[in-house]
Amino acid sequence: MQLFDTHAHVNFNAYKDDGEEVLRRCLANGMSVVNVGSQFSTSKRAVEYAHLFDDNAYAAVGIHPVHLKKGSFTHHDPGELTEEEIPTTGEKFEYEKYLKLAKDEKVVAIGEIGLDYHHFEEGDDIEFLKNLQKETLLEFIRLANDVQKPVMLHCWDGYDDLLEILEKYPVDKKGIVHSFIGSYKTANKFIQLGYMIGMNGIVTYGDSYDRLIKEIELKDIVIETDCPYLTPRPLERGIRNEPLFVKEVAQKIADVKGISIEEVAQITSQNAKRILILSS
Ligand SMILES: [Zn+2]
Repeated sequence: MQLFDTHAHVNFNAYKDDGEEVLRRCLANGMSVVNVGSQFSTSKRAVEYAHLFDDNAYAAVGIHPVHLKKGSFTHHDPGELTEEEIPTTGEKFEYEKYLKLAKDEKVVAIGEIGLDYHHFEEGDDIEFLKNLQKETLLEFIRLANDVQKPVMLHCWDGYDDLLEILEKYPVDKKGIVHSFIGSYKTANKFIQLGYMIGMNGIVTYGDSYDRLIKEIELKDIVIETDCPYLTPRPLERGIRNEPLFVKEVAQKIADVKGISIEEVAQITSQNAKRILILSS
């Protein structure tokens, strides 16, 4: 069974002791994985990791919108019991720096980039931060079009603004709306624009997303872990997520759609290869 984790963070500190081993383990199982950067340092590490392996390990490079603000934000992982204070660096987009990474043959997408209106905290200048997020997103869209690669989009509480931007400033190669948590109606608007919907452990936490899974066709879905976060059920709460666990996301989609996990694995892997412009 061929599984494709389209959004992982084995390049993050949670794997500083065993990242290479975690990647080796999933690749040995015939998987493919995209490690996604959230700032320059983790983007660079994602590219370095991808080069450790011949095939099936890829990278995406970008700045997560929460990292545009300097300070920290409180991360509550729906799959975990605890809250975590994550420091943010106040990064700025620098074209030449990111162009160099973006051109790398192992880089299959520009991201994660996007809009996050969920993690604003008291005292934040919200209008300023929203504008900064939008402007940075536009810079990255320009970069994606310059290198003719798709985008890996993060969006929390900002789907309407994101849709407006993608309509006005189209990405030539489209991309993935990762960790999608909107309605199927919103999902359809992205699908009409040519985007794939990324599903992860969140869809395994109860039945809130069963309708979304049912309403969207398999040809428009890719799967991901977003590890180390969002460990899918029925795995134990609190354990560190890893790319191999993406099969639980595939299983959930198979159960809800009433099809086999093999079919889900095969079609979502094909979808990933198509949108990320990889030969199969
Ligand atoms: Zn992520």
